[in-house]
Amino acid sequence: MPKLVVVGSINMDLVALAPRFPAPGETLSGERFATFPGGKGANQAVAASRLGAEVVMVGCVGSDLFGRDLVAGLNKEGVDTRHVHTIEGVASGVACITVSGAENNIIVIAGANHALTPEHVAAAEAEIAAADVVLTQLEVPLAVVAATAALAKKHGVPLILNPAPAVHLPPALLDEVSYLTPNEHELSIVMDAGSTPFPDMLERLPGKVVMTKGEHGAYHVAADGTFVHQPGFTVSAVDTTGAGDTFNAALATYLPLGLKPAMRMACAAAALSVTRLGAQGGMPQQDELDAFLK
Ligand code: ATP
Repeated sequence: MPKLVVVGSINMDLVALAPRFPAPGETLSGERFATFPGGKGANQAVAASRLGAEVVMVGCVGSDLFGRDLVAGLNKEGVDTRHVHTIEGVASGVACITVSGAENNIIVIAGANHALTPEHVAAAEAEIAAADVVLTQLEVPLAVVAATAALAKKHGVPLILNPAPAVHLPPALLDEVSYLTPNEHELSIVMDAGSTPFPDMLERLPGKVVMTKGEHGAYHVAADGTFVHQPGFTVSAVDTTGAGDTFNAALATYLPLGLKPAMRMACAAAALSVTRLGAQGGMPQQDELDAFLK
């Protein structure tokens, strides 16, 4: 059982289905409403736990009903929440999503996710030191990501940074990261590379980047310059929400087997996730992944 520490966001997704998007100032009658646990950190923690990893989550929720439900949901998925802090007087992170047909509008409010501090990460140093892999994203403050990278490096534990939502990253942080897992658009922002073709971007950071490209799978340029392409698995896609989160969770879970086998498992798990509705709803269990690959 690989041991993972996931440092990241925990959100409640509030989804309203509407016949169309309201105009500014307009009130519209919607069709349906539902809440789903989300946030890239929590999604990746849940996906890894379903794949059999022992997962410790480091994050923050607010002192509200959403926070209580989100922690209970993580516990139910087998994620260790001892390092999930409830911040008094702050709201839990939410994503307000309006869906109309195949399109959506999303407003993310970080709430308690922005109360996560380097000190919270330091409090989990023993778990980081004992981990096989540490996994983080950019929905928490950059100072937290930097502190996570520094602690992982101190203890010689590989760190995967999923740079989403993408921002240009300082070279000092890129140095400390073992693997970066952007999609093509995110890679261009992280590297400030404009419309440079992706093979050239990958060559600029040899050994570091595992770039996802939807149904085409994932690409990597090894430290010795070898170009690696793991093709995507052909499936009938129903909902690609959470494909990236499933990919990252599986990559982290299987990284102890080596990067290439981990990329294969990640593409397979992510392909399975797009055959079902929802982010966490689509994430496969370990036995489903094994059966898919038989
Ligand atoms: P999202 O933001 O939708 O979660 P993303 O943009 O971060 O996704 P993608 O590159 O779209 O990431 O997808 C991640 C991985 O999921 C891909 O590398 C691939 O392995 C798998 N995947 C995505 N879409 C498909 C598809 N239609 N068929 C098969 N595999 C897919």
